[in-house]
Amino acid sequence: MKRPAGESVKRPPKAKPAKAAGAAAGAGRKPESRLAMVRRARRINRELAELYPYAHPELDFRNPFELLVATVLSAQTTDLRVNQTTPALFAAYPTPEDMAAAVPEELEELIRPTGFFRAKTKSLIGLSVALRDNFGGEVPGRLADLVTLPGVGRKTANVVLGNAFGVPGITVDTHFGRLVRRWRWTEQEDPEKVEAEIAAIFPKSEWTMLSHRVVFHGRRICHARKPACGACPIAPLCPAYGEGETDPEKARKLLKYEMGGQPGQRLSPPADYPGKPAPPLGGG
Ligand code: SF4
Repeated sequence: MKRPAGESVKRPPKAKPAKAAGAAAGAGRKPESRLAMVRRARRINRELAELYPYAHPELDFRNPFELLVATVLSAQTTDLRVNQTTPALFAAYPTPEDMAAAVPEELEELIRPTGFFRAKTKSLIGLSVALRDNFGGEVPGRLADLVTLPGVGRKTANVVLGNAFGVPGITVDTHFGRLVRRWRWTEQEDPEKVEAEIAAIFPKSEWTMLSHRVVFHGRRICHARKPACGACPIAPLCPAYGEGETDPEKARKLLKYEMGGQPGQRLSPPADYPGKPAPPLGGG
C-alpha cells in the first residue's frame, strides 16, 4: 500500500475561503429549531464527505487483532506514534497466542514510545490471553464481547467494530466531542451521551464514515486551540466561526497533514489518500 518514493500525489481539495460567520445559527439570532439543526448537521456531513472523500482510520492495521492492539496503544498518544511502533511489535507478536506468551519487559520495550507502556503492556497481554482462552484466538465481532477484554472500553470496541467488522458505530474521541459541541449538535460532555445524541441525528449507515470525517476535520482544520476558521469550508454552517484564526492567509498556515502539504499519520495509507505517507520511527 505504501506509495513509492517520487510518485506524484493527487492534491487535496483546496479549502474555500470562509464567507459567512455561522449563518445558520450565529449569535444574536433566534434559537435554532431541532429540525434546522438536524438539516444543518446533515449538510455539514455532506460537505465533509466532499472535503475528505478519502477519510479513514488513521491507524495502520492488516487484521482485527492489529486494529485492536493499535487502538489500545493509541490512548494518550498520536496515531502517528502508534503507527511508527506497531511494525516491530507485530513482527515480534503476530497473533494473540504470541502476544499472550510475551515476556512483559520485552513487550514494554517495544511499545515504550507510545507512553504508559507498563499499563498498556498489561492490557495487551491480558486481552491476548482472553482472546486465546475465551474466543478461540479470534477478535469477537460483538460489542458485548469486546468490552469484556482488558483495556477495551466502548470507544475502542466501536473503532474495531466499525473498521474491522463493518458494524456501524460512532467513535467519540476528543476531536469528535469538541467539534460536535462547536457545531451545537449536542451540549453533552459525556462520550456515551454524545454518541447517543449524534446517533439520533444520522442514519446508521453514516455513523462510521461520519466519525472519520469529523476526526479528520478536527485534526486538519478545526484544532482544539487554534481552529483555522478563515480556511474552513464549512464556516458558513458553523456557529463557532471566529473561535479561531479568521484571516485566510494566517489560517491556511495552521492547516495540517495533507491539507498543509505535510505527511499524514499512516505509514501505509489507503491508495486514495492524496497526501504523503508518514515516515518510520526516527525517519523524516
Ligand atoms: S474551524 Fe472549526 S470553529 Fe472554525 S469555522 Fe471551521 S468548524 Fe467552525
